[in-house]
Amino acid sequence: MQLKSVRCTTEDLPMGQRRYPECVAREGKPRLRSLEDVVALPRRSPLAAELQRALAAASRLHGLRSDLSPVPVVATATISEAGAYRFRKRDPIDLRVSRVGGRSALGFLHELGHLLDHQIFYDRKTRSWASAVHQAFAPWREAAALLDKRVLPGGSSRQRYFQSVHEVWARSYAQTVMLRSADSALARQLGKLQAEDDAHIWQAAQFAAVAIEVELVFERLGLRQLSLPLAA
Ligand SMILES: [Zn+2]
Repeated sequence: MQLKSVRCTTEDLPMGQRRYPECVAREGKPRLRSLEDVVALPRRSPLAAELQRALAAASRLHGLRSDLSPVPVVATATISEAGAYRFRKRDPIDLRVSRVGGRSALGFLHELGHLLDHQIFYDRKTRSWASAVHQAFAPWREAAALLDKRVLPGGSSRQRYFQSVHEVWARSYAQTVMLRSADSALARQLGKLQAEDDAHIWQAAQFAAVAIEVELVFERLGLRQLSLPLAA
């Protein structure tokens, strides 16, 4: 669940030099898109079906105004982390989701939460993202501040990262999508994590108010009214 800022390919890199991962291209004016147009899921991965369910659930909640070409979602076999969002400055590179560990839907939604946070607002000078500074997120910040501090095993720097506003946003976004999914498989996974008192999830009673604030963020940003394509 790492945020990774890495160097992207630059066009003037001489041949033979180490290739950096490419950032996703931008084209045309930003427009409101469904999330199915914002990310490109892996097709041949064993995770494909589960990721599609998770993306469909997120897509029923909101879209994104964007000029990005679809951001690739890559299934990895890493066990050191559930996923990663890689980017450079304001541009995404990819979302990485581990096939290992049986929590791919949650991991994917968490990284999708980072992508949205980064793409809704990015301040070039301070490098702040929407969850930390954007006005539309202010009531969510207040509600999230009242949540129990979940604690991960590990040292203080890991703890600080886990409590950062980026992480609290990504975790509360993923939980909201699973909660509102009306998808029995995703609801079952959420219930199981709550029963296990998983550190990435809050208990239902205290999370209810935050889920409403996550939805209201997208409402305020005008990302909930996807216009239906006109029938020809
Ligand atoms: Zn994260």
